Amino acid sequence: MKLQYIVVSACFWLVLVVASAFWNINQMQTAQQETNLKVARSFFELIVTVRKWNAQLGGVYAPVSATLQPNPYLTISDRDLHLPDGLFLTKVNPAFMTRLIADLAQQGNEVRFHITSLKPINPGNAAEAWEAQALTAFETQAQREYFDWDGQTQTFKYMAPLITDASCLKCHESQGYKVGDIRGGISVSRPVAPLNLWPLMLSHAVIALVGLVGIRAFGRQLARAFADLERQSQIDSLTQIHNRGYFDIYLHREFLRSRRQHSPLSVILCDVDYFKSYNDLYGHQAGDSCLRQLAAVLKETVKRPGDLAARYGGEEFVIVLPDTTAGGAHALADLVRANVEALRINHKGSQVSDHVTLSLGVATTHGELKEVALLEQADQALYQAKQAGRNMVVTAVSAAPLVATNGHVPDA
Ligand code: GH3
Ligand code: MG
Ligand code: MG
Repeated sequence: MKLQYIVVSACFWLVLVVASAFWNINQMQTAQQETNLKVARSFFELIVTVRKWNAQLGGVYAPVSATLQPNPYLTISDRDLHLPDGLFLTKVNPAFMTRLIADLAQQGNEVRFHITSLKPINPGNAAEAWEAQALTAFETQAQREYFDWDGQTQTFKYMAPLITDASCLKCHESQGYKVGDIRGGISVSRPVAPLNLWPLMLSHAVIALVGLVGIRAFGRQLARAFADLERQSQIDSLTQIHNRGYFDIYLHREFLRSRRQHSPLSVILCDVDYFKSYNDLYGHQAGDSCLRQLAAVLKETVKRPGDLAARYGGEEFVIVLPDTTAGGAHALADLVRANVEALRINHKGSQVSDHVTLSLGVATTHGELKEVALLEQADQALYQAKQAGRNMVVTAVSAAPLVATNGHVPDA
């Protein structure tokens, strides 16, 4: 795995963690809002139910006291009752009752109710700015709920309209209200602490960090494993030089370069002479060991940075020589041949020498021959070398007779 994969994985991981954090924050905010709404709706519905009860009775009488004085805005003839036993009662209508409950609630807990209207009879019931906005929305847009979270006061504000029903008409019909008309609204405000996002952010930061450390550590190990694997996939396990797969890729790359730059590109095909008899005589293990020694000689002889020695298959090897003329390649092929001969590996089964020898075929292109044709020419040259007596180098010269040498290097 290369560095860019590690970077891409790390970025992907970070995007995932950030997305998770946002999703969680969104879920928390939605859950908090739903809870706030449920609580506010419950309060509102409870108040509406009590008001309905009051309206169905046409208002209820309660004793006048220090905390309950007659409602000056209730202008009906039977508002106050003086009973014969001295008890002084006053009528509490739904609006008045709502206000009394709201005052009581504000003393006892943090919830605040407010009955209000755009045209209040009692100026004390005038709408605040946000309530007026909500009431306007109820009247003009058929909206039935309004809610908002006020960050400054850290308060959740909820409001719903008071809709006229049959029980309301007893008192409000004279004002021209019909069933379904909006007469105002009740707001419910409740202090709500803002969401504490720190634990979530912190846990996600830790998760992100642990993941990044993991990706880095695991990525390094993977990178090493990939590099090993890549190297192994290019190497022949027996001879430890490059294999046929790597040779194919390499030759194609060099062919493209040669065609682009019109530079010479040579290949040398090498085949061990009478190797079948070598195996038959000395056994397969010795055959393998011989191939390993030959590969080492090839690798040592081919020294230029762009040169490549590879195992072509079986007891055949191939050498790629970029920027090398036919003459130069022929000279190197003969050097390989001579170095193999100099190993003096005994080969009693060979009909051309007492030692292991190679036959080599050389072909060169300046971009005019494709890889397959180039290899075909090298193979033909190799065949000629075999035919001509083995332990020999033959160079295929395009449109010219094959040149054979055994220790003699022709002019390039
Ligand atoms: P020639 O001079 O015409 O090339 O004769 P040759 O016997 O070398 O030709 P042939 O193609 O008939 O034989 C190739 C032999 O190479 C056959 C096979 O046993 C041997 N060989 C191929 N691969 C391996 C290998 O990996 N290990 C060993 N020990 N032998 C191998
Ligand atoms: Mg062969
Ligand atoms: Mg052979």
